[in-house]
Amino acid sequence: MKGLAKRSLQPLPFEKGKPDESPGRKATGLRVRSTPPTHASRVAKGGKQGLRRPANFQRGSPQGPPLHRRPSLQECGLGLSSFLGWLKQVASGTSTFMRFLVSEIFHSIQGEGTLTGVPFVFVRLSGCNLRCTYCDTSYAFKGGTFFSLQELIAKIESYGCKQVLLTGGEPLMQRGTPELTQRLAELGFLVSIETHGEADISQVTPFARIILDIKTPGSKMQRGGYKKNLPLLKPTDEVKFVITSSEDYAWARDLIRQETWPTPHLLLSLANAAKNSPGAFQGPTDSIDLKWLAEKILADALNVRLQVQLHKLIWGAEQRGV
Ligand code: SF4
Repeated sequence: MKGLAKRSLQPLPFEKGKPDESPGRKATGLRVRSTPPTHASRVAKGGKQGLRRPANFQRGSPQGPPLHRRPSLQECGLGLSSFLGWLKQVASGTSTFMRFLVSEIFHSIQGEGTLTGVPFVFVRLSGCNLRCTYCDTSYAFKGGTFFSLQELIAKIESYGCKQVLLTGGEPLMQRGTPELTQRLAELGFLVSIETHGEADISQVTPFARIILDIKTPGSKMQRGGYKKNLPLLKPTDEVKFVITSSEDYAWARDLIRQETWPTPHLLLSLANAAKNSPGAFQGPTDSIDLKWLAEKILADALNVRLQVQLHKLIWGAEQRGV
């Protein structure tokens, strides 16, 4: 544990631009040559192997850094005490070895839903198994930075904000999301999870507000995967429909009228153009706009909430990290 605790104090991966001054790097002195090697010294130190060693190399001496020695388990933070600590964590279900692949994490204003305008910490987890035509976060499909559970919680706590949104990508594709959700809830955070609805929400729903995004036909990802999750929703959860066309609106309206909803929070959102989306989405078809959508909701007496993406109004549609 001692070694692992030390490592967690080092700069987080997002703090780029800082030199790596970790003790391990300094101590081993890898790639550092105090004296340029000469041909004679290379030969004297033993043929081809010696060609890579500095002239004053002596294994184990202060002048001769152990260039070719493997680091010990202790140096890797994996000594006996670390191993016992890890076993203890596994037994208690809080393994340090849990990792999250994070696309981005930032502090901003919630732009959607019933908490629009409230400051949030946004944690965008990498990876998604869908490819919606209008997706505006395709940069989160792959790549990212690994965080341990402790590092991620520490980063979230560093903002001093008690509202957290786990989004993506699809946040429920990462195995540790249920544990992260529970730990954050136990620490007093109000956790929201934005999901495309196809992943099972049963493990997270007791600890988080769910925002279930039901895919409309215009997304080209309308597969009905949300149905198994509908009975699990709570009155505080939200259901969202992204409208790309008049056909999408009619489809959502009919579904809203047919289904029994466990929550009153049904949100309609007009899709925005997203040039980097999988469908290179150019914006809603049929010339529909916010005014059209507002008038349709009123004409159909639909009991929903029309929402705009406030963060895009404030910072523009292309701005990331807001
Ligand atoms: S909009 Fe669709 S493709 Fe993009 S992250 Fe959400 S579910 Fe995945």
